[in-house]
Amino acid sequence: MTELEGRVAIVTGGARGQGAAESRRLGREGAAVLVCDVLVPEGETFVAELSAEGVDARFLPLDVTDPEAWAQAVEEVRGWKGRLDILVNNAGIINRSTVSATEPEAWERVLKVNLTGAFLGIRAAVPLMEETGGGAIVNISSNSAFSGHYDPAYTASKWGLRGLTRSAAMEYAARGIRVNAVCPGLVVTALNAASPHLQPMIGMTPMGRSGTPEEIAELVLFLASDRSAFITGEDFVIDGGFTAGASYRRVAVETGIY
Ligand code: NAD
Repeated sequence: MTELEGRVAIVTGGARGQGAAESRRLGREGAAVLVCDVLVPEGETFVAELSAEGVDARFLPLDVTDPEAWAQAVEEVRGWKGRLDILVNNAGIINRSTVSATEPEAWERVLKVNLTGAFLGIRAAVPLMEETGGGAIVNISSNSAFSGHYDPAYTASKWGLRGLTRSAAMEYAARGIRVNAVCPGLVVTALNAASPHLQPMIGMTPMGRSGTPEEIAELVLFLASDRSAFITGEDFVIDGGFTAGASYRRVAVETGIY
């Protein structure tokens, strides 16, 4: 028997990158997965791959900023499996522009997708989770939610996700629903593959490399499973040691201490 046999999951932004790895990992552990994304052909192709691998998966087009689409997604899993156990709020976008150079519309779009999208997802998912015995929600934040950053809209949205995570955890703990956040460091995906900051970041990462989507998915699986049954309201940094002290490590390297 696999760990998530009989469980049902929704993963947003699941068509590619980390969301795809998370969908695959949960699915291989026995969960039925509703993969949601705005990338429709990519999502359909990915779900066909998952099905060929023996994963019980469906694709549904979902824009996380649309409350109506969220209601449809929850109705889809209710009709499909009659329950909902896991929600991974993974969809996210970047802006990579300074405060001065960011137009208000761009600021609002990032907050809407990255933060309001998760808020809408939690609101939509909780009633069915509660009805069918509780569940686990994992919000994908970032290690940029622990410092200032050169993408202020993105960073503000990811700090906001940490606050939403803790607040929702307090509200739903007695109702059998745990809420945690995963805060990855650099993972090279379509989100950032063209970015000039990759090499400087890798160079400053104590482990000397970026993470993989599969490594992030492993932590998501842990937080979605009963192995983390007493953990709620926490954020988990997974970044090869970057947040632990990359700046002091750089000083130590440059001054010959290390
Ligand atoms: P990605 O661009 O490959 O994946 C993001 C997915 O979200 C895409 O499939 C995209 O279509 C989808 N998406 C975007 N807007 C959407 C919307 N409105 N509704 C539904 N889906 C939408 O990038 P990734 O690296 O896999 O990112 C996954 C998550 O991890 C994001 O929240 C990102 O902020 C976070 N993250 C990434 C890194 C990194 O270095 N890659 C680091 C920390 C956190």
